[in-house]
Amino acid sequence: MIELRTPTEIEQMRPAGRFVAEVITALSQAADVGVNLLELDALAHEMIRARGAESCYIDYHPSFGASPFGKVLCTSVNDAVLHGLPHDYVLRDGDLLSVDFAASVDGWVSDSALSVVVGAPRPEDVRLIETTTRALEAGIAAAEAGRKIGDISAAIATVARGDGYTINTQFGGHGVGRTMHGDPHVPNDGRAGRGYPLRPGLVIAIEPWFLHGTDQIYTDRDGWTLRSADGSRGAHMEHTIAITEDGPLVLTSRN
Ligand code: MG
Repeated sequence: MIELRTPTEIEQMRPAGRFVAEVITALSQAADVGVNLLELDALAHEMIRARGAESCYIDYHPSFGASPFGKVLCTSVNDAVLHGLPHDYVLRDGDLLSVDFAASVDGWVSDSALSVVVGAPRPEDVRLIETTTRALEAGIAAAEAGRKIGDISAAIATVARGDGYTINTQFGGHGVGRTMHGDPHVPNDGRAGRGYPLRPGLVIAIEPWFLHGTDQIYTDRDGWTLRSADGSRGAHMEHTIAITEDGPLVLTSRN
């Protein structure tokens, strides 16, 4: 079921968006060569406690998950691109790290993700992150009242294909509200002018993710982490946005 939020409810969703943005910023600043992924999870956990927020991940146990997630953050490194379960791993020079974080404040959820390189970046990783960032920006720009979900999908896909990347549509964006995952699905590829109409009050996460060499993924033995089939690296960028009469409002904006 797709729920539309009133302007008052969208105002009530702002604190969650601001908090998630603060955590993503803190994580991107803390991520460095020599830092353990478990330290990043602990940092996010401490920020949740200090804010009185609630983790959307720690008890998360969907049908595809082996057991409850148990952490408050996804950390996906190099050939891992989505749902990375934080584990005892120390970041190395040149690692490509994607963090994905969702939390609830005052009963409203926000969800955001960011990819960064720690240490000296490989040029191809910089390019992949830039493309993913531009795809997110294009998707957000298409999120105008009166248009359709397919316009967001097509905008994302046009950027990716233009830069030579292929697209996996197994995982994509989603409705966001009282819980982390709701309708509608927001695929990273689709046809402009098709799909659910974008009405004021619709709140969605838009989250392009691409891999260097493939669009195929597999699940790690940990039961969660999704890795590229060919070992190539991936990037992931996500914001939670509200469709308003005045255009897309980026609730998780870090500016
Ligand atoms: Mg997310």
